[in-house]
Amino acid sequence: MKIIMLGAPGAGKGTQAKMIAAKYGIPHVSTGDIFRANIKNGTELGKKAKTYMDAGQLVPDSLTVDLLIDRISQDDCANGYVLDGFPRTIPQAQCLEDALAARGESVDYAINVEVPDSNIVNRMGGRRACVTCGATYHIVHIPPKKEGICDKCGSGLILRDDDKPETVQNRLKVYHEQTQPLIDFYSKKGVLKEVDGTQEMNAVFEDIVKILGA
Ligand code: ADP
Ligand code: ADP
Ligand code: ZN
Repeated sequence: MKIIMLGAPGAGKGTQAKMIAAKYGIPHVSTGDIFRANIKNGTELGKKAKTYMDAGQLVPDSLTVDLLIDRISQDDCANGYVLDGFPRTIPQAQCLEDALAARGESVDYAINVEVPDSNIVNRMGGRRACVTCGATYHIVHIPPKKEGICDKCGSGLILRDDDKPETVQNRLKVYHEQTQPLIDFYSKKGVLKEVDGTQEMNAVFEDIVKILGA
């Protein structure tokens, strides 16, 4: 099962992608997580990506596409995967289509998690991320059991640099200009599914399970 998560930054793609990965036993592949791991490890790729990420811009396709195609070519992706944060531009989507077509494959579901911009700023301002395992929380809606500490691994939680309000506005603008056109792209391919992302986390997931099948 090859699944793409679509939706604005902060719509809950990552939250749902992790739940999908756990239920269906497929890897959760997040380009944002891959970039953040590279930043943490001080790699060349991380240094390049950070300047774009901190400005709320997209990392150029030249640094993103090969990385993602490599990742989904690994053995653990043989039975499918859930992509979170890729593709984000039409050229990225086209490269993915081409790479899959070369193996006689295609995307099965593109799930659009629909949340209006007015909810997004609140979601991002309250997001807290685990520096070690990548788990995400919300200080009001999905709080950790102990404030500032990851339930899963006990590490400290941080507010991401790019979740500050100034950067969030820029990311929303970039989303509408460059990523939203993918909704039409996948609709034309007949694989688009829409879910109401304003519901609470488990209700959103129930709607997704209805689409993917139990
Ligand atoms: P969010 O989950 O809030 O949408 P991500 O973790 O997916 O954020 O992405 C964080 C940042 O990483 C993006 O704002 C962008 O700079 C960069 N990034 C992640 N995925 C891509 C991609 N497919 N193409 C270009 N930039 C990306
Ligand atoms: P994305 O990957 O689309 O950027 P996240 O999954 O990281 O989004 O979610 C953004 C923030 O909103 C996080 O703080 C997360 O805990 C919170 N969140 C996710 N889903 C919901 C929901 N259904 N209701 C309220 N808050 C949510
Ligand atoms: Zn953790």
